[in-house]
Amino acid sequence: MKRISGIVLFICIFCASSFGQSGQCTVSDYAEYGKKIKEYTTEPFFITELVDHLPLSSCVPPPDTFLHHIIGAPDILDYNKDINAYMRLLASKSPRVKVFGIGMSEEGREMLAVVVSDEENLARLDRYKEINRRLADPRGLSEAEAQKLIAEGKPIYWADGSIHSPETGSPEMLMEMAYRLAVEETPFIQKIRKDSIVMITPVVETDGHDRMVDVYLHRKKHPTAPPYPLVWWGHYVAHDNNRDSLGMKLALSRNMLKTFLEWHPTVMHDLHESVPYLYIMTGTGPYNAWLDPIVISEWQQMAYYEIEEMTKRGVIGVWTHGFYDGWAPNYLLSIANNHNSIGRFYETFGNGGADTRVRTLPADATSRDWFRPNPPLPKVKWSARNNINMQESAILFGMHNVADNGSQFLNNFYLKSRRSVEKARKEGPAAWVFPANDSRPGEQASLLSLLELQGVEIHRTEKEFRIPASASTTESPARSRKRDSADGGPEDKKAVEANEKKTAETIIPAGSYVVRMDQPYSRLADMVLDTQYYNPRDPRSYDDTGWTLGALRNVRTMRVTDVSILDAPMQKVGAIEVAGGVSGEGNTYVVNHNTDNSLATLRFLLSTVPMDAAEEPFEVDGIKFKAGSFVIRKADRKALEQASKELGLKVHATKSEIKVSTHPLAVPRVAIVHNWQSTQNDGWFRIAFESLKIPYTYVADTRLRETSNLRQSFDVILLPPMGGFGPSGLNTIIRGLPMRGTPLPWKNSADTPNFVAQGLDSTDDIRGGLGYSGLANLEQFVREGGLLIAVQSSAALPVSAAMTEMVNVAEPRAMQAPGSVVLSTIEDKKSPIAYGYDDKLYIYFRQGPVITVSTGMGNQGPPESRASGRGSISDPDVIQGRPFIAQEKEAKRSPREQELYIPEDTPDNARWFLPAREAFPRVVLRFAPEKELLLSGMITASNEIADKPAVVDVPHGKGHVVLFANNPMWRGETNGSFFLVFNAMLNYDHLNAGASTAGPTTIPVATGEDQEEY
Ligand SMILES: [Zn+2]
Repeated sequence: MKRISGIVLFICIFCASSFGQSGQCTVSDYAEYGKKIKEYTTEPFFITELVDHLPLSSCVPPPDTFLHHIIGAPDILDYNKDINAYMRLLASKSPRVKVFGIGMSEEGREMLAVVVSDEENLARLDRYKEINRRLADPRGLSEAEAQKLIAEGKPIYWADGSIHSPETGSPEMLMEMAYRLAVEETPFIQKIRKDSIVMITPVVETDGHDRMVDVYLHRKKHPTAPPYPLVWWGHYVAHDNNRDSLGMKLALSRNMLKTFLEWHPTVMHDLHESVPYLYIMTGTGPYNAWLDPIVISEWQQMAYYEIEEMTKRGVIGVWTHGFYDGWAPNYLLSIANNHNSIGRFYETFGNGGADTRVRTLPADATSRDWFRPNPPLPKVKWSARNNINMQESAILFGMHNVADNGSQFLNNFYLKSRRSVEKARKEGPAAWVFPANDSRPGEQASLLSLLELQGVEIHRTEKEFRIPASASTTESPARSRKRDSADGGPEDKKAVEANEKKTAETIIPAGSYVVRMDQPYSRLADMVLDTQYYNPRDPRSYDDTGWTLGALRNVRTMRVTDVSILDAPMQKVGAIEVAGGVSGEGNTYVVNHNTDNSLATLRFLLSTVPMDAAEEPFEVDGIKFKAGSFVIRKADRKALEQASKELGLKVHATKSEIKVSTHPLAVPRVAIVHNWQSTQNDGWFRIAFESLKIPYTYVADTRLRETSNLRQSFDVILLPPMGGFGPSGLNTIIRGLPMRGTPLPWKNSADTPNFVAQGLDSTDDIRGGLGYSGLANLEQFVREGGLLIAVQSSAALPVSAAMTEMVNVAEPRAMQAPGSVVLSTIEDKKSPIAYGYDDKLYIYFRQGPVITVSTGMGNQGPPESRASGRGSISDPDVIQGRPFIAQEKEAKRSPREQELYIPEDTPDNARWFLPAREAFPRVVLRFAPEKELLLSGMITASNEIADKPAVVDVPHGKGHVVLFANNPMWRGETNGSFFLVFNAMLNYDHLNAGASTAGPTTIPVATGEDQEEY
């Protein structure tokens, strides 16, 4: 094994003023620590000379003197407060360390940025930040000036640990690395210190980390007790905290983004632990198509450099490529990649704690491949220290590489920034426009504010602007659908061309918002607003394949390629606010239902004010209002004025009589259900509710089991996707955690001080699931007038449990839909669930379920194939020895007609099996036909979902069950479909409004007249 430096004894001298203490600091070898490193490392091929020792400083305390264990010691983990305290101790003792708080978590735990560099660099930290800021926005910078800055600047390498709470090695490793970087005097470490600035965030998910340490130490202390699952990681979501860079709903994402935009780190490096032994991110592709190709090269260059350095030293199992794709821009590391820096990650082998265990790997993890010429072993004893050694060695090589090639990395950063500014006139588009006349100004402002949070500049046009018909403009989501033909069929191309020919000039009204593509973060804006095409032949996608935010948020956007727009008069805007307030005179107030989500906030904010919903569209004082508009007949104008200003809602006061049928809008008591195994999906629902200030009760499945009169407490019970389909799903939901051993309380205790925070749930026993009684209680709740909303996988529950008739929920057979944006049509415009929506809505769809509605009678459409016989596939068969009688041809029926079809010859006794007409399911939202279905992403075998119901309202007893095949509240991205949920809630006791009461559809079978002639 090659040694970079054999010398371990150094003397360094710091002056008293800069160090805060007098005298000389000596550095020697900390032999005792080194001995333990070797003891806890299971094999010599899991260590390098960079980390097989630790220097001992006479001034700066090594980790074990503070933590009472060496880093990577078995069976021990540290809490945030100790990790942060150690980092601050380093800063107080070493002039090479500074600590900055970068924000708090939801539960009030602090996140840190620990900066380590040479004393002189730290003294000039503000200057280096300024250089990076300038390179990040090179507008107005000459090439010579840029090169001068690059020569003067230092690259910043930001390492962050444990975004995923069961991955516990990195916070420990980062403490040792911070110490090592601060005190070690090998040329290798000196180089990193002198020629770069290292930034460390030891724990990204601070709430989840402390809970994980509770769970782990509890298990160590009570080895025979039933083990606790990590019910919550962060306050809201688990693994998905690494999928928040499109919605930016979590405190950790916002804190990291804000820090990024302050420092512009050259590299951001997330440390994960799930793959043996060290996977270095490059990914299989397809790579995100909006990133500058330069960054793709940088990923490869960095990965191969580190793999080579590790492999040269005999380390086993360091590889790249064959894991993760690099497509979706929603990861934490996307913060860097989307802002022209380098975002990357490691996966090392964790043990979900600090156990030492024998680990056996499946063949697909140990096979040799072109990207893994030195694969992991089939079986090995693995320790926490092994994990530390792998992470720390490799990332130090990575940091050395960046320090050693600082100007190259800074120059690339500058180039990527400059090329982003050039994008508008080079590859295009020129801009994205948010028209001033969008009927959803609230959601428009919300999306624009999100872009501003990401550092994107927004402008506003001063005058109307016209784009000639010849210059192409694509109005993308929401109400109109014209796309650059991604599927490429000749028919599609024709359609697009025809469409474009029809287009006259495009008028962009004055006051429209413009996202110019000649700004540093143009690529980010373009990638989130554009449509995505994911070829099914590509490797299986790692996450969502489509994410078009304009469509998902039901906000109109226009992709403008005509560069003349860049010269249109416009002003850069600051915070985007929507004007609200009351206009007009009179004692009746009307608020148009445009599905802006703040309308739901208004209902709960003024909960004591009676409000009605209009059941039809209507007109008053010459103003048109949509079905579902709020009619307020008795209110304090001042209170309404204040609320509507705050929420950016326009309220019209009138003296005229409102001539439309209405019903009261409820202020429902809502429960959001969770179980005790996984709380991931409900977290996104909770965030949506909380950010809109809609009150709810967070209720466990076990509580539903034990509460016999749910209707007394709740009007609406919402089941977010809780996993599991069909019989096995029902089994899991009813059983929950096994009823074995002693009760497992989920409460804060001396052993588990971090289990519960305000807003989370607690119980005396987490075992037992929903149980049979829970199922019965839910059924009773609905029968007595409650509304049960069941989303995606949870839709199977009320259907399997016989709370619905004429509805089936199934897993898709061959369809692959790994997270895409699809089109749906509003089928039942009179349903209160559809209030405020236009004819079409883009929704997020992932894999299932497939919901079908049917009377269960008669032929379900024409046969898919013909029997073997004479002729061709379209010819009629002819039976021998009798006259030819043509098969009756099925009448053409719409999906809805087909669902409700009852053949005329159905005997009355069979009709008895059908519910009364008013108890028929109402298909509110339906997936578009196959040809129009996909906007962004990928779906194969999409015929399985095309034309099928997306949202179905099923009456049951006095109440309703509403089933969603789409996820209306996904990762803070699908704000356009939030109101499907809110509408259902606010109208929970009037969902029958507008229902058809006509008898079951009977469509006569076709006569022979339209048969073909043979
Ligand atoms: Zn992870």
